[in-house]
Amino acid sequence: HTVKSYAARTFDYPYPVAISVEASNGMEYPMICFNYGRPDEDGTYSDAIKYGMISVIIHEVGHNFFPMIVNSDERQWSWMDEGLNTFLQYLAEQEWDRDYPSRRGPAHKIAPYMASERHLLEPIMTNSENIIQFGPNAYAKPATALNILRETIMGRELFDYAFKEYSLRWMFKHPTPEDFFRTMEDASGVDLDWFWRGWFFGTDPVDISLEEVKWYKLDNRTPAEKKADQKKAADREAYHISMDYNKEDIPQTVVEADPATRDFYNSYNPFTVTPEDEQAYKNFMASLTPKEKELMNSGLNFYEMRFRNVGGLVMPLIIQFNYTDGTSEVERIPAEIWRLNEWEVTKVFAKKKEVASIILDPYRETADIDETNNYWPRQFVPSRFELFKGASGARGVSTGDNPMRRSRSRR
Ligand SMILES: [Zn+2]
Repeated sequence: HTVKSYAARTFDYPYPVAISVEASNGMEYPMICFNYGRPDEDGTYSDAIKYGMISVIIHEVGHNFFPMIVNSDERQWSWMDEGLNTFLQYLAEQEWDRDYPSRRGPAHKIAPYMASERHLLEPIMTNSENIIQFGPNAYAKPATALNILRETIMGRELFDYAFKEYSLRWMFKHPTPEDFFRTMEDASGVDLDWFWRGWFFGTDPVDISLEEVKWYKLDNRTPAEKKADQKKAADREAYHISMDYNKEDIPQTVVEADPATRDFYNSYNPFTVTPEDEQAYKNFMASLTPKEKELMNSGLNFYEMRFRNVGGLVMPLIIQFNYTDGTSEVERIPAEIWRLNEWEVTKVFAKKKEVASIILDPYRETADIDETNNYWPRQFVPSRFELFKGASGARGVSTGDNPMRRSRSRR
């Protein structure tokens, strides 16, 4: 399966054999690799052993392609073989079984690593000997970045074409990182400089915050409606708590007691509609073009949304609008929206329907490390403490019990 899956995305497998040998750990060589994991003596095994074995066999057999054939320098740039290989491993796992529990690939699974302390992080573009956490840096982060590139930034068709082009150009040669970056760009015609810079040359995480939403409607009220609203606002402004207490404490004011103290303004109401108001409104309505009139009566809602780049890594804005009628809609704004201001952007959306709530990145495809600021109105995302117990033993070693055995013994 590995050879078929990888070949479909790269080139035909050119070697005569691909051998996988059961061993105590995983390691790759041209045409042969050694892989851990075995069932217990009674033939049962845990799901961790099962998927661990399948994954490691896909991974180590996959190394025949990267770096055995596309021969990058793994001691200088581990991600060029481990990252690309882990990415293709993820695709092969998903083809193996629909709900395959892939550890590395889905965007949200890299978020905890990207959220860790800065002094524990290095860019992917770091010499292998200077990497602190090898697994996340050289395997998981590049694999996830490529998966995001494929699913969210470029789309599958463009990505797959460009990736195959890279494999074909560099098989039996020695590519460096820029060869990969440049081929992905020139084979697809997509400018990805911002993506390489953010994901491969930096340690910034993705954290985009939906800071503010302002809701506007076109003002098509009549003079009477406008004045009524103005009166409400003026009353609210004039009110203060002493007025309530004074109702009883001051039985009669001077003006109430003495008619001689009253003048025009004691009976003047600035909120009555005057003939001048009516005429001005008529004139305005008559001046509208048919298009303007249509807009006036459209009832459109304008939502001005402000986004802040908290994490530093720019990404597309994927926005789900949930409407008051129960329907919803997703809009995708490319990452280029950040090109003039990478820290804050504002965009207006015109909607026929009224919006009840908004979710940023609803499918969790950008690896956003803080999802609490992805909601309008703000929403609390539940989190739980977990008791952590260290894993026991080496990889692929039985823990002495598994659901398969328990199910057999019940029979
Ligand atoms: Zn590997």
